[in-house]
Amino acid sequence: MTQIFTPKYLEEALELLAKKNPPQPLAGGTDLLVMLKDEPERFSSLMLLENLKELSGIHKENGRIRIGSFTTHADIEQSPVLNEYAPVLSSAASEIGSVQIRNRGTIGGNIINASPAGDLIPPLIALGTTLELQSAKGKREIPIREFFLAPGASVREPQELLVAIHFAVPDARERGVFLKLGPRKAQAISKVMLAVQALVHHGAVEWIRIAIGAVAPTVIRAPQTETLLQGKKLTPELIEEAKETVRREVSPITDIRSTAEYRQHVTGVLLERAIKSLL
Ligand SMILES: Cc1cc2nc3c(=O)[nH]c(=O)nc-3n(C[C@H](O)[C@H](O)[C@H](O)COP(=O)(O)OP(=O)(O)OC[C@H]3O[C@@H](n4cnc5c(N)ncnc54)[C@H](O)[C@@H]3O)c2cc1C
Repeated sequence: MTQIFTPKYLEEALELLAKKNPPQPLAGGTDLLVMLKDEPERFSSLMLLENLKELSGIHKENGRIRIGSFTTHADIEQSPVLNEYAPVLSSAASEIGSVQIRNRGTIGGNIINASPAGDLIPPLIALGTTLELQSAKGKREIPIREFFLAPGASVREPQELLVAIHFAVPDARERGVFLKLGPRKAQAISKVMLAVQALVHHGAVEWIRIAIGAVAPTVIRAPQTETLLQGKKLTPELIEEAKETVRREVSPITDIRSTAEYRQHVTGVLLERAIKSLL
């Protein structure tokens, strides 16, 4: 039988996680309950996060945007703060699963699940996000780029909770774009998804961050393509060169959703569409 803990305060939750066999945190359950059904013996105890007010809310304060890890995809999609300052993130949230999944699934669960196809991860990388993790021993902040190790694996310790997600408030001149290619319009895990955050002035790129999902064991940046574009005017020739460069930076696999060749081709196409919409 699975034991359920329902802590009311963050300290109580962190104490439970500090015990010898810590309970598995349960947020929206859209990933975990599927795993629990398949392998019930893996989870002898669960800890519900729903009462922990420190994990909720979207705030703009001191030049940073803070999103509590228990914030749902629906709240991200509808947040006036995120729609104004980080539409790359709210538009990614709007493409997740279905209404039911967006009402239950949380940003924290999406990150901790560490799927290379997690839709919120590319926009968070493009925004230069930092993750706030906390255990009974204290807090640490870690850039999201250093968080993922492999599919389903991250540097999070079992005693740690992901408390919040932070990024600097983007400059009003920045633009962000999220594009996802899935097998269907809804309830579809991405074949490839790409997020871009950039400052483009008079048709020239001041800086750009490109993050791509489902094309490598973890979501990746495209540093060579970013360097190629930086400081240059976006001509059709440069966009063509960027498409070829980004295709060389990905290393997709063939699986039930798509072939490696198709994913590689589509990465270039999505980058071209993203750059054109920045313009
Ligand atoms: C039908 C269906 C469609 C889906 N479609 C999409 C899609 O289009 N795009 C997409 O990206 N995903 C999709 N998903 C996957 C899933 O909905 C998301 O990854 C969701 O964000 C997970 O969040 P959750 O709150 O439900 O996590 P949970 O299932 O509660 O937890 C997931 C993992 O994170 C851990 N965890 C959760 N919160 C914390 C925390 N604060 N600190 C430490 N550990 C924590 C849990 O212990 C567990 O290991 C889909 C799932 C289903 C069932």
